[in-house]
Amino acid sequence: MEHIYDAAVVGGGIAGFSAALSLKSLGLDFLWLGETEFGEKVKNCEYVRNYPAFTGDGAAFFETLSRQRVREAIPFTKGRIDGIFRMRETFTLSVSPALYTARTVILCTGVDLKGNIKGERELTGRGVSYCAVCDGALYRGKTVAAVLGSRSLLEDVEYLAGLAATVYLFTPLEVALAHKNVHILRDFPRSIEGEGRVNRIVTDRSSYEVDGVFLLREAIPPETLVGGLRTEGAHVPVDRRMATSLPGLFAAGDVTGPPYQFAKAAGEGLVAAHSVKEYLRTVR
Ligand SMILES: Cc1cc2nc3c(=O)[nH]c(=O)nc-3n(C[C@H](O)[C@H](O)[C@H](O)COP(=O)(O)OP(=O)(O)OC[C@H]3O[C@@H](n4cnc5c(N)ncnc54)[C@H](O)[C@@H]3O)c2cc1C
Repeated sequence: MEHIYDAAVVGGGIAGFSAALSLKSLGLDFLWLGETEFGEKVKNCEYVRNYPAFTGDGAAFFETLSRQRVREAIPFTKGRIDGIFRMRETFTLSVSPALYTARTVILCTGVDLKGNIKGERELTGRGVSYCAVCDGALYRGKTVAAVLGSRSLLEDVEYLAGLAATVYLFTPLEVALAHKNVHILRDFPRSIEGEGRVNRIVTDRSSYEVDGVFLLREAIPPETLVGGLRTEGAHVPVDRRMATSLPGLFAAGDVTGPPYQFAKAAGEGLVAAHSVKEYLRTVR
């Protein structure tokens, strides 16, 4: 007979782990699925900021999370979910070639901020950052480049301008900034270079010596995993219970929108787990 879980948690990051921890303490039968345990973002953190009771880099954060997972006996199933389908009262999750069935789903798939500037992937966490609030403080009094792809992230440039000595702002957008240390440039960034750490950004016109590069992009819309789910760009709108437009489907973490921070992801994962418990009580 097919096993039907109370909940399937999709996504191996902090939101997913927090949801799994709470589902376990709530005594529910759940499956936690994802591509990588704790996600790549954890390991890529130069220094984990804004997370209560933890100081250290991404590698140390990963170790702490792994110890907790083992101690709490939370199983993690590796796999890429290629579709989630609602079938009457349950959801079927396709993780080729396997299929899993659950009464509820907590979607914790994050957002993919990576692009294709040469050197970007290799130097992520070594001078390349996607989050001014997370890493800006590392560049106090230094020179940074900001590559701005969306007007909605202009606040991040202002934040950097308040910390760094010089900000080279590469953007095709018309923006107005009062900060004298921000130099707006129309160059097109081609590559980010450095030996082990960022030293320079090379454009179609010139090369600039910098200590860090901030790639300020809106998230790339994720694959539509769930048919019929209401989305807003790259994000899934939720209410305070983390409920989405589909009954029984909840979402948590970066996928619900900014701020993209570990503490928010963890909090939302916990709320989603409690909402699952409440939802199951009402439908059973
Ligand atoms: C370089 C960097 C540094 C950062 N520093 C900080 C910091 O110092 N402090 C802070 O608070 N925040 C920081 N952040 C932000 C933080 O990493 C995110 O807010 C947090 O990771 C969000 O957690 P999440 O679980 O929502 O998503 P993610 O961590 O993105 O996890 C989602 C996971 O779901 C997986 N997934 C997606 N789709 C599928 C699928 N179809 N099948 C299987 N798996 C799937 C992804 O592979 C990923 O592993 C940083 C981010 C970056 C990139």
